[in-house]
Amino acid sequence: MGDSMRFADFERIVFFTGAGLSVESGIPTYRGKGGLWHEYNYEDFACQRAFDRAPDRVWDFHDKRRAAIGACAPNEGHKIIADVQRENSRTKIITQNIDGLHQRAGATDVVELHGSIWRIRCDACFRTELSNETPLGERRCSCGRYWRPDIVWFEDALHDKTVRAAEQALVECDLFVSIGTSAVVYPAAAMPQIAQRAGATLIEINPEETQASHLYEHPLRGPASAMLRTLI
Ligand code: NAD
Repeated sequence: MGDSMRFADFERIVFFTGAGLSVESGIPTYRGKGGLWHEYNYEDFACQRAFDRAPDRVWDFHDKRRAAIGACAPNEGHKIIADVQRENSRTKIITQNIDGLHQRAGATDVVELHGSIWRIRCDACFRTELSNETPLGERRCSCGRYWRPDIVWFEDALHDKTVRAAEQALVECDLFVSIGTSAVVYPAAAMPQIAQRAGATLIEINPEETQASHLYEHPLRGPASAMLRTLI
């Protein structure tokens, strides 16, 4: 890559982020070393069937995750992304993360493909609320049904509206920067291809090669914040 490539050279930037971006904040990835799903079985804690079977057990787990994530702060990578967006309001952020760290760094209009651990929803009366109370004081909606975390669990479908918002940003982008995602889960895995078809320049920031690396003309192999710094 030309050493001179800079965010300022592009007009419509999409940041596509995954668990690797939050590693420097102290939040482990799922699949990597120290990943959550080596320690816990997702079938007991992160799917609708588990929730229907034992909602309090699933909430205990999510209360712990909220406490752990709430104790972490956005890192330099989140801040650089928020700064780029502040400079150029057409910048879009599509994340697979549920931790809310983009917003805590000052970013806006974040497309959260997999939902947010800071939102709860009632599937009986279709209410959605923001909630950062940890632990969640009232686990039931006023209608009597348990609130559930508004995150996309294993086997859940993504929300159509969210996927459409992501696709809209992708077909318009001229720079696509993937950061810290192994991009193996669809439809997220298709997103770099959409950007490629739109003619965007593609950069992959990841210390390791991924299954999607062949799509990117510009690999930056290293941790998120240090690599993002080279593009300022
Ligand atoms: P993943 O665990 O499959 O992959 C993480 C990627 O990050 C890997 O390719 C790894 O090489 C890379 N990585 C590790 N350290 C890095 C660093 N310092 N800088 C840059 N990259 C680094 O995660 P995924 O692809 O995001 O998919 C797993 C699913 O689980 C997604 O839905 C994801 O968002 C969710 N998840 C979210 C969080 C969070 O909200 N912080 C944490 C874990 C998992």
